[in-house]
Amino acid sequence: MSENGNRGIVIDLRSDTVTKPTPAMRRAMADAEVGDDVYGEDPTVNRLEAMSAEMLGKEAAVFVSSGTMGNLISVLAHCGRGEEMILGDQAHIFLFEQGGSSALGGVHPRTVPNQPDGTLDLAQVEAAIRGENEHFPITRLLAVENTHNRCGGQALPVAYMDRAGELAHRYGLSFHVDGARLWNAAVALDVSPARLIQAADSVSVCLSKGLAAPVGSVVAGDKEFIRKARRMRKVVGGSMRQAGVIAAAGIVAITEMVERLADDHANARRLAEGLAQLESIHVDPTTIQTDIVIFELDHPSLTPAQLSAALKERGVLLNPIGGSRLRAVTNYQVSAEDIERTLAVFAEVLEAAPIGDTSAVRVYG
Ligand SMILES: *Cc1c(COP(=O)(O)O)cnc(C)c1O
Repeated sequence: MSENGNRGIVIDLRSDTVTKPTPAMRRAMADAEVGDDVYGEDPTVNRLEAMSAEMLGKEAAVFVSSGTMGNLISVLAHCGRGEEMILGDQAHIFLFEQGGSSALGGVHPRTVPNQPDGTLDLAQVEAAIRGENEHFPITRLLAVENTHNRCGGQALPVAYMDRAGELAHRYGLSFHVDGARLWNAAVALDVSPARLIQAADSVSVCLSKGLAAPVGSVVAGDKEFIRKARRMRKVVGGSMRQAGVIAAAGIVAITEMVERLADDHANARRLAEGLAQLESIHVDPTTIQTDIVIFELDHPSLTPAQLSAALKERGVLLNPIGGSRLRAVTNYQVSAEDIERTLAVFAEVLEAAPIGDTSAVRVYG
């Protein structure tokens, strides 16, 4: 919960990216030892990279400014121009990264439908892998997302990750994991992040989402892959100098902020349970595994945009995400008490909205 100067309490459920650095992060940033990271001389960046590589069970890691850059340089390191990447049709890389791997790297995306649990049907993946034929691009990479954002924060289990990696490797493909919220998946599944991506050749993880660092992601893989990824980071202008100032917050993120994600998951489940009690909201609380709650609004006079506006008037922020769906994401700035308050605000807004009366637009605009 945070204070809004104009209107009092604000409960911000738009994303876990809205999290501000913790006091421990601020102190670590102020005290960070730094150097020129392009010379490999920033001790704090070096420490973050070494610690991340270890936690992710890979030989090496590289610090980048965002999850988008982490995915981009990973894809560019794995694939050459005109080569193909197989990924989900709901993948963040496919939907929300401006097609960067195609725009900047000439990498051809081949989508397979995501299942509701965030996985790709591996028989469909196998069928999408190209055979030898001069008409075809060469398939080079399989990418999966864990947790799966657009599928409602679903955590893909170890057995699936292993099978996906085995399939990729059987056909000579690399296996990349967009693990922006891998930490949430590991906590939800009660498994180490390293074990979860044991089969992956590369992973990109965000420090700036539920872990609350102000900036940054880390890409991990073997030494040769990370050498290529560093080159790609340089060509996209992503090499930074005294980056230890931000890496310091990342170290606090991976050491102090991972286990507490369980609280965010419990809050998300509680939110979904409360929302499921409301007549015009549809969500199955048993499907909520991590910090994301996607729910449907089925109300005769309120659209998702109007509901979101009405909630905002009362200090609850969350976003419509297309169709009749809205999304709420819990995070360390939202307490269990805030969730109860959110549910009370929902009940108030939905009760007040006159059924079948479109003047609700004006009332709540
Ligand atoms: C947020 C997100 C990203 C991108 O991270 P940014 O730091 O916002 O660039 C990539 N993949 C997934 C699944 C995400 O949720």
